[in-house]
Amino acid sequence: MARQTLLKLGGMEARLVLFPLTAKVNSQNHLVVGGCDTVKLAAEFGTPLYVFDEATLRGKCAEFRSEFNRVYPGTVVLYACKAFINKALFNLLNEEGLGLDVVSGGEMGIAKSVGFPAARVYFHGNNKTPDELKEALDWPIGRIVVDNFHELTLLADLAEGHKQDILLRLTPGIDPHTHKYITTGTIDSKFGFPVGEWDKAVSKALSTPNLNLVGLHFHVGSLLFETEPYEKSIEVVLDFAAKMKSKYGFELKELGVGGGFAIQYVVASPPPPISTYAGAISSRIKSKCRELKLALPKLIIEPGRSIVGRAGVALYTVGVVKAIPDVRRYVSVDGGMADNIRPAIYGSVYEAVVANKMSEKEAGKVTIAGKFCESGDILIRDIELPPVSAGDVIAIPSSGAYCLAMSSNYNAAFKPAVVLVKDGKARLIRRRETVDDLTRCDLP
Ligand SMILES: *Cc1c(COP(=O)(O)O)cnc(C)c1O
Repeated sequence: MARQTLLKLGGMEARLVLFPLTAKVNSQNHLVVGGCDTVKLAAEFGTPLYVFDEATLRGKCAEFRSEFNRVYPGTVVLYACKAFINKALFNLLNEEGLGLDVVSGGEMGIAKSVGFPAARVYFHGNNKTPDELKEALDWPIGRIVVDNFHELTLLADLAEGHKQDILLRLTPGIDPHTHKYITTGTIDSKFGFPVGEWDKAVSKALSTPNLNLVGLHFHVGSLLFETEPYEKSIEVVLDFAAKMKSKYGFELKELGVGGGFAIQYVVASPPPPISTYAGAISSRIKSKCRELKLALPKLIIEPGRSIVGRAGVALYTVGVVKAIPDVRRYVSVDGGMADNIRPAIYGSVYEAVVANKMSEKEAGKVTIAGKFCESGDILIRDIELPPVSAGDVIAIPSSGAYCLAMSSNYNAAFKPAVVLVKDGKARLIRRRETVDDLTRCDLP
């Protein structure tokens, strides 16, 4: 960006790093994403609107593929689709050669509905139902990642007549230093086999005729800014794999190290680049395998947030601005916790810009509130913005992951429309819901 523009943009300019790769400011001082003026998008499609930048989505897929394959050839990249699910996105990911990590019959069904190749789909989850397992076996899905003994027994019965490839999900007992609700790999977790059960799980899986144990998996948590939890878990799991090799002749063909790669939500907290995770993970696997005389397993990674997070921008229109003298200035927008519940449940922090006032100077702190009937429906507390008034468009970056995926119809909210932008063109990939959608399942 030219120096001239930087000076003109003042405080808002620094926040552009949080937006999609194509984000810039046009001559009208509007935020532009994917060549589209976001203020015009808001007018054309209405708000709340989720805008996904195709270049950023494809760029992230390519970055994961190339950074991991450069240091660890053959790495399989699965998109953990719970972060954001949409048919157009699945088609794009299929084109990019990614696989999918699904955690429910619903996710599996959507993948099937777009003809996603079954061989590239891995089925996760701590409480898969018999129906879900049957559906997976009949597809037949690429891998089932078995979480516990109940599932192992269930699957052994259901898998008659199949030869299903499975992995075992292990809980390595590593604290990933993240929010406790997104921690999954510590001892006290509902996910995976606890350390004391690992040996028995491998022996049981190996002795089940209709199951083929191809590997081990762990996922220690989400939004990990450090590589250490991956490296420590790799050590623990590979040590165990070596023991299983000498005890049962088990060959570790696949090692799943989960997802959890961090993204940048606020200017002050940049995560390491993907190449740093790739380097640390691959060198730890290589050195440990050398030490233990194990063949290098195929590496499986499952990024969710880091594929879609930065590509997504949420657009809202400002309605009421309520100033409580000496207390706070509330700027209410036309969305909130129904489309982004993360601040309410995790205390997640976001930044924002006024999309139609990108060059204006900050004029003090405001709190961006949603329109839903909960006092906790606050999107951003105390953020410096230019003067805001009704009709302005607020853009919140890093909104691609776990916003729409966790969205609800609370207060009978219509789930937002979603557009995919590229080279100045916007394609509607999900229309806004209507009253008919809200009542579709009711039987009066
Ligand atoms: C949620 C999840 C992921 C993806 O986590 P992100 O933080 O979105 O990258 C990967 N693997 C498993 C098993 C998960 O549950």
